[in-house]
Amino acid sequence: MTKPAAPRHTAGGGVVDPYRMPSGSLDDLLDGEPAFRTGQVRQWLARGVTDPAAMTDLPLALRDRLADRFPRTPITLRHVTADDGLTHKVLLGLGDGEAIESVLLCYPADGRRQRGRATVCISTQAGCAMGCPFCATGQAGLRRQLRTDEVVAQVRAVTGLLRDDDLRPAGVPDHVTNVVFMGMGEPLANLEVTVATVRWLTDRHGFDLSARGVTVSTIGLVPGIRRLMALAVPITLAISLHAPNDELRDQLVPINQRHPLAELLAACDAYAEATARRMTFEYVLIDGVNASAEHARELVALLRPRRAHVNLIPMNPTPAVPWAAPPVATQRRFADICEDGGLTATIRHNRGTDIDAACGQLYANYQVASGRRLPAAERVLPLAARGVAERDP
Ligand code: SAH
Ligand code: SF4
Repeated sequence: MTKPAAPRHTAGGGVVDPYRMPSGSLDDLLDGEPAFRTGQVRQWLARGVTDPAAMTDLPLALRDRLADRFPRTPITLRHVTADDGLTHKVLLGLGDGEAIESVLLCYPADGRRQRGRATVCISTQAGCAMGCPFCATGQAGLRRQLRTDEVVAQVRAVTGLLRDDDLRPAGVPDHVTNVVFMGMGEPLANLEVTVATVRWLTDRHGFDLSARGVTVSTIGLVPGIRRLMALAVPITLAISLHAPNDELRDQLVPINQRHPLAELLAACDAYAEATARRMTFEYVLIDGVNASAEHARELVALLRPRRAHVNLIPMNPTPAVPWAAPPVATQRRFADICEDGGLTATIRHNRGTDIDAACGQLYANYQVASGRRLPAAERVLPLAARGVAERDP
């Protein structure tokens, strides 16, 4: 069965990707309307609204005219919660049989944290072509690219949950504060859509996110990293490293054969310098594969010259490979070596609720870059505080 292709972002005919239209094309689409209509439409788009029927300040005739040109809002197929309502997973149907998951993680204000946070983990592709063997998404291959409106729609969908007083947990803001590109797909393999999404999410007329609140996780597509750098929007970049040498990384991360470690780290250094942001490296711990003390020492040697933070992610089992996370003692030894070597390191534990199992790797990424405890995590170990914690009765 052939799948319908994603609509093109064209002003010629058919459905457009309104977030990627040069403003001239939007003007063309609004031909015959007063010039201020373009601004009105842009303001709706900035808030994540693409359905002309909901653009209530446009005349009805124009809303009708745009109805066939703008993409329909994805339909929420499923909404599940966990962790006493602190975690929500939304399954959005895209209209061509595809469905994508987005996860909302709430971090209420508490004694330590004066302001609560609402983080959404979003997908940029249905599936992924990068083929990392430990990853459920990679095992399934690429189904199709998402359009910008489909990526923005994920943020809008969880914004709807946060606006609902009955759903929003106490101490959590009524809007999204952080977005992490850590769901399905490789964001930098859908580069123009990722870049456009970042631009719109940081638009002050809409979601108004600070660049610091946006994290893009990449497997290491160097041209994309350099492109993000050129954007001069200092978002946080998280690099999925997973191995401290090329020989092993070639196997765990096939794209390493095209962009080996030296090239990747040079791009990371340039990014860190240009944005004055500290780099985060993610490292999935796989027992018997990349989690030995020797691997940890190699990682330290590689990252010590950098102000690097390492997120250690015990592997979530996936069907296609017989790999698993190492025992907790091995994870801690790995983290200890990183800390002793001058890196900061965090271990994330990812099991715990029904929805985690269902969303596979998404859950592995909830904690991302915030350095904060996951609502559903069994344990997040800020290693700097470990010695103190262990002495507590
Ligand atoms: N493609 C991007 C973003 C999506 S994956 C990337 O790879 O960075 C987000 C994170 O989940 C990555 O660090 C990825 O390596 C990790 N991940 C994938 N499969 C996993 C698994 N089975 N267990 C734990 N983490 C996993
Ligand atoms: Fe794609 Fe990231 Fe999974 Fe690799 S880890 S297959 S890049 S989603």
